[in-house]
Amino acid sequence: MTSSPASPDKEINRRGLMLVLSSPSGAGKSSISRRLLDIDNNITLSISATSRKRRPGEVEGKDYQFVSPEDFQIMIYENQFLEYAKVFDHYYGTPATQVMETLGQGGDILFDIDWQGTQSLKATARDDLVSVFILPPSYRELERRLKKRNQDTDQEVAKRMSKAADELSHFPEYDYIVINHDLESSVNEIHAILKAERRRRHRQNGLTDFVRNLQAGY
Ligand code: 5GP
Repeated sequence: MTSSPASPDKEINRRGLMLVLSSPSGAGKSSISRRLLDIDNNITLSISATSRKRRPGEVEGKDYQFVSPEDFQIMIYENQFLEYAKVFDHYYGTPATQVMETLGQGGDILFDIDWQGTQSLKATARDDLVSVFILPPSYRELERRLKKRNQDTDQEVAKRMSKAADELSHFPEYDYIVINHDLESSVNEIHAILKAERRRRHRQNGLTDFVRNLQAGY
């Protein structure tokens, strides 16, 4: 059987999307991100730059690009960021170059950024943005998960807990809300959101040609 230009099994050209996951620290966002990247091969992680110190187990270039506070300021000055924000006394930012290239090639990008970064992306790239806020099942569980991580000092944990209530208040700014009762269910829900969002008409910029071919009898 020969394949025509309008073959239904041919992927239609589309622009990539930005899938943003935000949550208070400890709601399970990192585990969800890792699983999602494992099961879907058209989405890659945006590696942020940060001026905070590397935690044990974190890998340069994989978890973050770790830079000095001085170098971070230079990157701001040179307009290298799509967005950046100060979170817990440290700077975090999304380098622009890789993101723009990937979107143009139809690749999707996962962002693990806070509500401030999400607001910035909303202002500059609303059509490309799909935002998901992850809620912990309870306050107690949030506290348990933060303590279990054992990567931060007690002082740092206390600080993050006190920030949690404030971060939670930003849930209405997001397109989707997922309550993380269970890792696999949350991953499946977010994967379903991703798959549906890929089918949005405005992202499928190859549709006009596809339909034209259908009309022409191909
Ligand atoms: P952590 O220090 O635990 O890795 O991250 C602290 C917070 O910074 C998290 O809420 C995370 O989502 C946020 N964050 C990480 N990278 C970025 C970024 O590039 N931009 C913004 N706005 N927030 C970020």
